[in-house]
Amino acid sequence: MAGDLEAKVEELRSALHRANHRYYVLDDPEISDIEYDEMMRELVAIETEHPDLVVPDSPTQRIGAPVGEAFAPVTHLQRMFSLDNVESEEELEAWQARLTRALGREPSAYVCELKIDGLAVSITYENGVLTRAATRGDGTTGEDITANVRTIDAVPLRLQGEPPELIEVRGEIYMPVSAFDQLNARQAELGERPYVNPRNTAAGSVRQKDPAKTAERSLSIWLYQMGQVTGGPTFASHWDSLQWLAELGLRVNPASKRIADLDGVEAYVTAAVKARHGNDYEIDGVVVKVDDLAEQSDLGYTAKSPRWAVAYKLPPEEKTTTLEEIRINVGRTGAVTPYAVLDPVFVGGVTVTNATLHNEGELHRKDLRPGDTVIVRRAGDVIPEVVGPVLSRRPDGLPEWHMPANCPFCTNPIVLPDGQAKAKCTGGFTCPSRLREYLFHFASRGAMDIEGLGYKTVDMLLNEGMISDPADIFTLDRDVLLGFEGWGEVSVNNLLGAIEAAKDQPLARLLTALGIDHVGGTVARALAAEFLSLPALMAATEEDITAIDGIGPEIARSVAEWSQDGDNIELVRRLDEAGVRLADPEPEEREAEATLLAGLSFVVTGTLDGYSRTDAKAAIEARGGKVTGSVSGRTAALIAGASPGSKLAKAEALGVPVLDEDGLDHLLVAGPEALVE
Ligand code: NAD
Repeated sequence: MAGDLEAKVEELRSALHRANHRYYVLDDPEISDIEYDEMMRELVAIETEHPDLVVPDSPTQRIGAPVGEAFAPVTHLQRMFSLDNVESEEELEAWQARLTRALGREPSAYVCELKIDGLAVSITYENGVLTRAATRGDGTTGEDITANVRTIDAVPLRLQGEPPELIEVRGEIYMPVSAFDQLNARQAELGERPYVNPRNTAAGSVRQKDPAKTAERSLSIWLYQMGQVTGGPTFASHWDSLQWLAELGLRVNPASKRIADLDGVEAYVTAAVKARHGNDYEIDGVVVKVDDLAEQSDLGYTAKSPRWAVAYKLPPEEKTTTLEEIRINVGRTGAVTPYAVLDPVFVGGVTVTNATLHNEGELHRKDLRPGDTVIVRRAGDVIPEVVGPVLSRRPDGLPEWHMPANCPFCTNPIVLPDGQAKAKCTGGFTCPSRLREYLFHFASRGAMDIEGLGYKTVDMLLNEGMISDPADIFTLDRDVLLGFEGWGEVSVNNLLGAIEAAKDQPLARLLTALGIDHVGGTVARALAAEFLSLPALMAATEEDITAIDGIGPEIARSVAEWSQDGDNIELVRRLDEAGVRLADPEPEEREAEATLLAGLSFVVTGTLDGYSRTDAKAAIEARGGKVTGSVSGRTAALIAGASPGSKLAKAEALGVPVLDEDGLDHLLVAGPEALVE
């Protein structure tokens, strides 16, 4: 048993030493922070239970990793420390209880600061002039990165105000998220592999041999701690020392706050979690420090960390997992998208099992291969992303992935159109995957808005062979639908009612529904406003289309190509035949329609099949009519559905005309004439 434990301890130590080296010296970690933290916690737990197993060079006793050889060593005037972590309010409260026991009372106040996810640095100013900058290294000795740090604009080369004879300040160098995104956009343009995250990129940039390379990266800094000071003012609190650092012209994070009690600290943490993505820098926690410097010195340090501070870690947004497989799907336009099938991983608050890989070019740029250990990232509400492989963990001889030559759904060839990133399935609507996505999109909210025609119903209709293109939606057979399991009168009526109503959707919605490449809602509205009918748009030349404000050649080409495609011409013919309106009313017609029922007032009662009460009211009002709640002698007509109640009797008594649902349909088209018959 004891032998097993020793072997386990040895295994954890060697894994942690290796991780430290890759993280601190190579700036290229091969495990995620959470895996690291889990191993560290396990080791701490074993060592706490078996103090005899603790050795001075255990990773629990040491900060960082021995410094590399690329830079000259620098001995810090005052040691730099790591921080103990807590992950819950209970752990935070236990920390406070320890402080209270040690001090004999609660600490008088705390300072909460954002824990910037970057690279710790110590900068020395002598008589106000920057003379040295060093990494944390093992806490005692760091690496001399003075030349590199001088290139960072946010680091003053000379202090303002009344600088002391000598001051060491500690802070975090980071890469702003915007700069990181720009850097990766440039990598993409160059066809180069993207950088994994701002933290490692910042660390790698600072530890460049050539300062010109560091200067190319837009790095920045926040300062959060005073080290050794000679010939300067003395302070009673950490908070006051921060104010002084700011006066000296150093960047002190404005989100830092002095807080009286632990409830306030917990509220700060909650607010920081919420605002996590509101800043142009990444944070991985909140640092809580005892404010009073006399209390700090009473509390002192462990081998690795101050007892007077703790890092409240936020849940990680990056994890490693296995890329089990790369599969493809065919979207509504026929675009073929590869996606990652992952060993499920809980990251950024959700379990991620799949993630899009966009296109084959991107996949090769990231050099992702099935079987790789990969880094998965999900920050905030952003969709999960496979950031890249951990190359050092790639098994030998892992083959690259290539787009299949034929579509797995319809067996037709997959092609990569000239100059495009996305491959396409050439199967058209014979491809079941494309057809399914197309139909779902066609019926969706922003398009034809056919309520009840979601994936489930689309799948059923496809499986039953009832539809093979969108035009078939409009000729569904009521009796056949009624024969399906779970489909009663009400659901069939609702679906058919929604389909009927969709025939009259405005042209812009029909254009959106047709899923022409590059034609989303806004473009569709611009096209509809200009051409007023689908046939007119299809007859237009690319020049006619580009003449519209805001519409460029790419959209015009896509619309023109779509219009000339034989399958699409046939689809439009069939939609027309099925009664789908292909044109918006002419302006005069629209005006006439808007005043069709002007001056007339109606009452709607009972249940209608094809309209909700609100829809019926909206349809009457759109034609200038009024809808009131009670029948009187002035009511032009009562629209009565099933179970009309007392309003029907009243209307009959007053001689007010009564219309059923067909009557309403007629009224909306014919206007007051419908009341005469
Ligand atoms: P730490 O990151 O948990 O905390 C200490 C550091 O926080 C300080 O050195 C400083 O750089 C930083 N910091 C940011 N804002 C601060 C502020 N306002 N005040 C004080 N300090 C602030 O400890 P550590 O020893 O630097 O690193 C350990 C952590 O690094 C691990 O928990 C893990 O997440 C990560 N790590 C990962 C790997 C890996 O392989 N993935 C390897 C080693 C370390």
